Amino acid sequence: MLRIAIQKSGRLFEDSIALLRDAGIVLGSSPSRLLRAQASNFPLEVIFLRDDDIPEYVEEGVVDAGVVGENVVLEKNKSIQIIDRLGFGKCRMCIAMPKNAKYSGLESLNNLRIATTYNRILTDFLAKKHIRAEIHAISGAVEIAPSLGLADAIFDIVGTGSTLLANGLREVETLLESEALLIAGPSLPPDKQEILDRLLFRLNANRNAKGHRYILMNAPNARIPDIIRLLPGMKSPTVLPLALEGWSSLHSVVPEAIFWDVLEQLKQAGAEGILVIPIERMIV
Ligand code: ATP
Ligand code: ZN
Repeated sequence: MLRIAIQKSGRLFEDSIALLRDAGIVLGSSPSRLLRAQASNFPLEVIFLRDDDIPEYVEEGVVDAGVVGENVVLEKNKSIQIIDRLGFGKCRMCIAMPKNAKYSGLESLNNLRIATTYNRILTDFLAKKHIRAEIHAISGAVEIAPSLGLADAIFDIVGTGSTLLANGLREVETLLESEALLIAGPSLPPDKQEILDRLLFRLNANRNAKGHRYILMNAPNARIPDIIRLLPGMKSPTVLPLALEGWSSLHSVVPEAIFWDVLEQLKQAGAEGILVIPIERMIV
Protein backbone atom coordinates (compact mmCIF):
# COMPACT_ATOMS: atom_id res chain seq x y z
CA MET A 1 0.00 0.00 0.00
CA LEU A 2 1.39 3.42 -1.00
CA ARG A 3 0.33 6.40 1.07
CA ILE A 4 0.24 9.64 -0.83
CA ALA A 5 -0.46 13.09 0.60
CA ILE A 6 -2.34 15.70 -1.35
CA GLN A 7 -3.54 19.16 -0.39
CA LYS A 8 -6.75 18.96 1.64
CA SER A 9 -8.27 22.02 0.02
CA GLY A 10 -6.84 24.82 -2.03
CA ARG A 11 -5.36 25.41 -5.42
CA LEU A 12 -3.77 21.99 -5.82
CA PHE A 13 -6.69 19.90 -4.61
CA GLU A 14 -8.76 19.57 -7.82
CA ASP A 15 -5.79 18.91 -10.08
CA SER A 16 -4.30 16.38 -7.67
CA ILE A 17 -7.58 14.45 -7.55
CA ALA A 18 -7.84 14.68 -11.35
CA LEU A 19 -4.30 13.34 -11.69
CA LEU A 20 -5.26 10.19 -9.77
CA ARG A 21 -8.60 9.88 -11.55
CA ASP A 22 -6.94 10.11 -14.98
CA ALA A 23 -4.58 7.38 -13.83
CA GLY A 24 -7.68 5.21 -13.43
CA ILE A 25 -7.59 5.32 -9.63
CA VAL A 26 -11.01 5.31 -7.99
CA LEU A 27 -11.15 6.75 -4.48
CA GLY A 28 -13.78 5.30 -2.18
CA SER A 29 -16.35 7.80 -0.83
CA SER A 30 -16.29 11.52 -1.55
CA PRO A 31 -12.72 12.51 -0.68
CA SER A 32 -13.15 16.22 -0.03
CA ARG A 33 -14.43 16.08 3.56
CA LEU A 34 -12.25 13.28 4.81
CA LEU A 35 -8.74 13.10 6.08
CA ARG A 36 -7.98 9.95 4.14
CA ALA A 37 -9.43 7.93 1.30
CA GLN A 38 -8.57 4.49 0.07
CA ALA A 39 -8.49 3.59 -3.61
CA SER A 40 -10.80 0.72 -4.46
CA ASN A 41 -8.82 -0.51 -7.48
CA PHE A 42 -5.17 0.34 -6.73
CA PRO A 43 -2.98 -0.17 -3.63
CA LEU A 44 -3.11 3.49 -2.73
CA GLU A 45 -4.26 5.49 0.25
CA VAL A 46 -4.65 9.26 -0.04
CA ILE A 47 -4.06 11.45 3.02
CA PHE A 48 -5.32 15.03 2.87
CA LEU A 49 -3.01 17.60 4.47
CA ARG A 50 -2.12 21.28 4.43
CA ASP A 51 0.41 21.74 1.65
CA ASP A 52 3.01 23.18 4.05
CA ASP A 53 3.09 19.92 6.03
CA ILE A 54 3.56 17.61 3.07
CA PRO A 55 7.38 17.75 2.63
CA GLU A 56 7.97 17.01 6.31
CA TYR A 57 5.47 14.14 6.40
CA VAL A 58 7.14 12.68 3.31
CA GLU A 59 10.62 13.03 4.79
CA GLU A 60 9.55 11.39 8.02
CA GLY A 61 7.81 8.53 6.25
CA VAL A 62 4.37 9.33 7.69
CA VAL A 63 3.36 9.24 4.03
CA ASP A 64 5.38 7.69 1.20
CA ALA A 65 4.75 10.33 -1.44
CA GLY A 66 3.04 13.66 -1.91
CA VAL A 67 1.84 16.24 -4.39
CA VAL A 68 3.01 19.73 -3.48
CA GLY A 69 4.19 22.98 -5.07
CA GLU A 70 7.87 23.35 -5.87
CA ASN A 71 7.75 26.65 -3.96
CA VAL A 72 6.87 24.75 -0.78
CA VAL A 73 9.40 21.97 -1.48
CA LEU A 74 12.23 24.48 -1.90
CA GLU A 75 11.24 26.51 1.13
CA LYS A 76 10.97 23.49 3.43
CA ASN A 77 14.21 21.98 2.11
CA LYS A 78 13.51 18.48 3.46
CA SER A 79 15.36 15.40 2.31
CA ILE A 80 12.91 14.02 -0.18
CA GLN A 81 13.19 12.98 -3.82
CA ILE A 82 11.46 14.78 -6.66
CA ILE A 83 9.82 12.04 -8.71
CA ASP A 84 7.94 14.02 -11.34
CA ARG A 85 6.91 17.49 -12.44
CA LEU A 86 3.15 17.50 -12.79
CA GLY A 87 2.45 20.49 -15.03
CA PHE A 88 -0.24 22.11 -12.88
CA GLY A 89 -0.23 24.59 -9.98
CA LYS A 90 1.98 26.86 -12.03
CA CYS A 91 3.06 30.13 -10.51
CA ARG A 92 6.10 32.39 -10.36
CA MET A 93 8.04 33.44 -7.30
CA CYS A 94 8.58 37.15 -7.58
CA ILE A 95 9.85 40.20 -5.83
CA ALA A 96 7.36 43.04 -6.16
CA MET A 97 7.43 46.68 -5.17
CA PRO A 98 4.92 49.52 -4.99
CA LYS A 99 4.11 50.72 -8.52
CA ASN A 100 5.93 54.02 -8.16
CA ALA A 101 9.02 52.81 -6.28
CA LYS A 102 12.27 53.18 -8.19
CA TYR A 103 13.83 49.94 -9.34
CA SER A 104 16.86 49.66 -11.57
CA GLY A 105 18.10 46.13 -10.95
CA LEU A 106 18.90 43.94 -7.98
CA GLU A 107 21.13 46.54 -6.31
CA SER A 108 18.01 48.62 -5.74
CA LEU A 109 17.03 46.02 -3.13
CA ASN A 110 20.01 46.84 -0.90
CA ASN A 111 18.87 48.07 2.51
CA LEU A 112 15.19 47.54 1.74
CA ARG A 113 12.78 45.62 3.96
CA ILE A 114 11.28 42.67 2.08
CA ALA A 115 8.28 40.83 3.52
CA THR A 116 7.80 37.16 2.68
CA THR A 117 6.59 33.79 3.85
CA TYR A 118 9.44 32.23 1.84
CA ASN A 119 12.28 33.17 4.12
CA ARG A 120 14.69 30.46 3.06
CA ILE A 121 14.34 30.87 -0.70
CA LEU A 122 14.72 34.64 -0.44
CA THR A 123 17.65 34.47 1.99
CA ASP A 124 19.52 32.06 -0.30
CA PHE A 125 18.81 34.17 -3.36
CA LEU A 126 19.93 37.45 -1.79
CA ALA A 127 23.07 35.83 -0.37
CA LYS A 128 23.95 34.43 -3.79
CA LYS A 129 23.51 37.85 -5.36
CA HIS A 130 25.35 39.67 -2.54
CA ILE A 131 22.36 41.85 -1.77
CA ARG A 132 21.95 43.04 1.79
CA ALA A 133 18.26 43.48 2.47
CA GLU A 134 16.28 43.04 5.64
CA ILE A 135 13.91 40.10 5.44
CA HIS A 136 10.62 40.26 7.31
CA ALA A 137 9.38 36.71 7.66
CA ILE A 138 5.62 36.90 8.09
CA SER A 139 3.03 34.17 7.92
CA GLY A 140 0.51 35.51 5.42
CA ALA A 141 -1.11 38.45 3.60
CA VAL A 142 2.31 39.47 2.38
CA GLU A 143 0.96 41.69 -0.38
CA ILE A 144 -0.51 44.23 2.01
CA ALA A 145 2.76 44.69 3.92
CA PRO A 146 4.02 47.62 1.78
CA SER A 147 0.78 49.59 2.09
CA LEU A 148 0.87 49.10 5.86
CA GLY A 149 4.39 50.47 5.93
CA LEU A 150 5.78 47.12 7.12
CA ALA A 151 8.01 46.59 4.13
CA ASP A 152 9.38 48.24 0.99
CA ALA A 153 9.01 45.14 -1.15
CA ILE A 154 7.58 41.65 -1.00
CA PHE A 155 8.63 38.23 -2.20
CA ASP A 156 5.74 35.88 -2.93
CA ILE A 157 4.10 33.53 -5.39
CA VAL A 158 2.27 35.16 -8.26
CA GLY A 159 -0.32 33.49 -10.46
CA THR A 160 -1.96 35.96 -12.82
CA GLY A 161 -0.58 39.03 -11.11
CA SER A 162 -4.03 40.38 -10.29
CA THR A 163 -3.38 40.30 -6.52
CA LEU A 164 -0.27 42.40 -7.02
CA LEU A 165 -2.16 44.84 -9.19
CA ALA A 166 -4.99 45.13 -6.68
CA ASN A 167 -2.42 46.05 -4.02
CA GLY A 168 -0.63 48.62 -6.16
CA LEU A 169 2.45 46.45 -6.62
CA ARG A 170 4.50 45.53 -9.67
CA GLU A 171 6.77 42.59 -10.26
CA VAL A 172 10.43 43.56 -10.43
CA GLU A 173 12.23 40.18 -10.35
CA THR A 174 11.19 36.60 -11.02
CA LEU A 175 13.30 34.16 -9.03
CA LEU A 176 11.78 30.94 -10.28
CA GLU A 177 8.82 29.29 -11.99
CA SER A 178 7.05 26.75 -9.82
CA GLU A 179 4.68 23.88 -10.51
CA ALA A 180 3.27 20.96 -8.56
CA LEU A 181 5.73 18.12 -7.94
CA LEU A 182 5.30 14.48 -7.09
CA ILE A 183 7.72 13.86 -4.25
CA ALA A 184 8.65 10.70 -2.35
CA GLY A 185 10.64 9.73 0.69
CA PRO A 186 14.43 9.44 0.37
CA SER A 187 14.29 5.64 0.07
CA LEU A 188 11.10 3.69 -0.34
CA PRO A 189 10.96 -0.03 0.43
CA PRO A 190 10.77 -2.14 -2.75
CA ASP A 191 7.06 -2.94 -2.48
CA LYS A 192 6.17 0.75 -2.21
CA GLN A 193 8.63 1.70 -4.93
CA GLU A 194 6.92 -0.80 -7.21
CA ILE A 195 3.53 0.83 -6.63
CA LEU A 196 5.02 4.27 -7.20
CA ASP A 197 6.51 3.02 -10.47
CA ARG A 198 3.10 1.71 -11.54
CA LEU A 199 1.58 5.10 -10.77
CA LEU A 200 4.36 6.83 -12.70
CA PHE A 201 3.80 4.54 -15.67
CA ARG A 202 0.18 5.69 -15.78
CA LEU A 203 1.07 9.37 -15.39
CA ASN A 204 3.53 9.06 -18.26
CA ALA A 205 0.99 7.31 -20.47
CA ASN A 206 -1.41 10.21 -19.92
CA ARG A 207 1.22 12.86 -20.44
CA ASN A 208 2.46 11.30 -23.67
CA ALA A 209 -1.10 10.99 -24.91
CA LYS A 210 -1.80 14.66 -24.19
CA GLY A 211 1.37 15.68 -25.99
CA HIS A 212 0.53 13.82 -29.20
CA ARG A 213 -2.15 13.46 -31.87
CA TYR A 214 -3.02 10.46 -33.98
CA ILE A 215 -3.21 11.45 -37.61
CA LEU A 216 -4.67 9.62 -40.62
CA MET A 217 -4.65 10.65 -44.26
CA ASN A 218 -5.08 9.35 -47.77
CA ALA A 219 -2.46 9.82 -50.46
CA PRO A 220 -1.57 8.62 -53.94
CA ASN A 221 1.08 5.90 -53.66
CA ALA A 222 3.61 8.00 -55.57
CA ARG A 223 3.52 10.58 -52.79
CA ILE A 224 4.10 8.17 -49.92
CA PRO A 225 7.90 8.55 -49.66
CA ASP A 226 7.60 12.37 -49.43
CA ILE A 227 4.88 12.11 -46.85
CA ILE A 228 6.75 9.58 -44.71
CA ARG A 229 9.67 11.99 -44.53
CA LEU A 230 7.36 14.55 -42.93
CA LEU A 231 6.02 12.23 -40.25
CA PRO A 232 8.13 12.03 -37.10
CA GLY A 233 6.03 9.03 -35.92
CA MET A 234 6.73 6.60 -33.09
CA LYS A 235 8.48 4.14 -35.40
CA SER A 236 7.36 4.51 -38.98
CA PRO A 237 3.87 5.27 -40.20
CA THR A 238 1.37 2.54 -40.95
CA VAL A 239 0.55 2.36 -44.68
CA LEU A 240 -2.61 0.52 -45.70
CA PRO A 241 -3.93 0.12 -49.24
CA LEU A 242 -7.24 1.82 -50.02
CA ALA A 243 -9.88 0.02 -52.08
CA LEU A 244 -9.21 2.69 -54.69
CA GLU A 245 -6.32 1.48 -56.89
CA GLY A 246 -3.06 3.46 -56.47
CA TRP A 247 -4.03 5.09 -53.15
CA SER A 248 -3.11 4.36 -49.55
CA SER A 249 -4.07 5.41 -46.06
CA LEU A 250 -1.23 6.53 -43.76
CA HIS A 251 -1.46 6.59 -39.98
CA SER A 252 1.00 8.14 -37.59
CA VAL A 253 1.47 9.86 -34.24
CA VAL A 254 2.63 13.46 -34.24
CA PRO A 255 3.77 15.61 -31.30
CA GLU A 256 1.23 18.24 -30.32
CA ALA A 257 3.86 20.96 -30.52
CA ILE A 258 4.46 20.53 -34.25
CA PHE A 259 1.28 19.04 -35.60
CA TRP A 260 -0.06 22.26 -37.17
CA ASP A 261 3.18 22.70 -39.13
CA VAL A 262 3.17 19.07 -40.15
CA LEU A 263 -0.46 19.31 -41.22
CA GLU A 264 0.29 22.14 -43.65
CA GLN A 265 3.30 20.32 -45.08
CA LEU A 266 1.34 17.09 -45.49
CA LYS A 267 -1.33 18.86 -47.47
CA GLN A 268 1.30 20.41 -49.74
CA ALA A 269 2.90 16.99 -50.17
CA GLY A 270 -0.37 15.61 -51.55
CA ALA A 271 -2.15 14.15 -48.52
CA GLU A 272 -5.94 14.33 -48.58
CA GLY A 273 -8.73 13.68 -46.11
CA ILE A 274 -6.45 14.32 -43.15
CA LEU A 275 -7.97 13.38 -39.78
CA VAL A 276 -6.47 14.38 -36.43
CA ILE A 277 -7.61 12.35 -33.44
CA PRO A 278 -6.83 12.77 -29.73
CA ILE A 279 -4.99 9.89 -28.09
CA GLU A 280 -6.38 8.58 -24.83
CA ARG A 281 -3.31 6.81 -23.46
CA MET A 282 0.15 6.33 -24.95
CA ILE A 283 2.86 3.95 -23.80
CA VAL A 284 6.22 4.44 -25.44
P1 ATP B 1 -3.00 25.27 2.67
O1 ATP B 1 -4.29 25.53 3.35
O2 ATP B 1 -2.91 23.85 2.17
O3 ATP B 1 -1.80 25.69 3.46
P2 ATP B 1 -2.31 27.52 0.96
O4 ATP B 1 -3.26 28.64 1.23
O5 ATP B 1 -0.94 27.56 1.50
O6 ATP B 1 -3.04 26.15 1.33
P3 ATP B 1 -2.99 27.61 -1.89
O7 ATP B 1 -3.30 29.06 -2.09
O8 ATP B 1 -4.09 26.64 -1.96
O9 ATP B 1 -2.08 27.36 -0.59
O10 ATP B 1 -1.88 27.24 -2.99
C1 ATP B 1 -1.30 25.98 -3.01
C2 ATP B 1 -0.18 25.99 -4.04
O11 ATP B 1 -0.73 26.24 -5.33
C3 ATP B 1 0.87 27.06 -3.89
O12 ATP B 1 1.83 26.72 -2.92
C4 ATP B 1 1.48 27.09 -5.27
O13 ATP B 1 2.39 26.02 -5.42
C5 ATP B 1 0.29 26.79 -6.15
N1 ATP B 1 -0.26 27.93 -6.93
C6 ATP B 1 -0.59 27.88 -8.22
N2 ATP B 1 -1.10 29.01 -8.69
C7 ATP B 1 -1.12 29.84 -7.70
C8 ATP B 1 -1.53 31.19 -7.54
N3 ATP B 1 -2.05 31.86 -8.55
N4 ATP B 1 -1.40 31.75 -6.35
C9 ATP B 1 -0.92 31.04 -5.33
N5 ATP B 1 -0.50 29.76 -5.43
C10 ATP B 1 -0.58 29.16 -6.57
ZN1 ZN C 1 -0.07 26.40 2.72
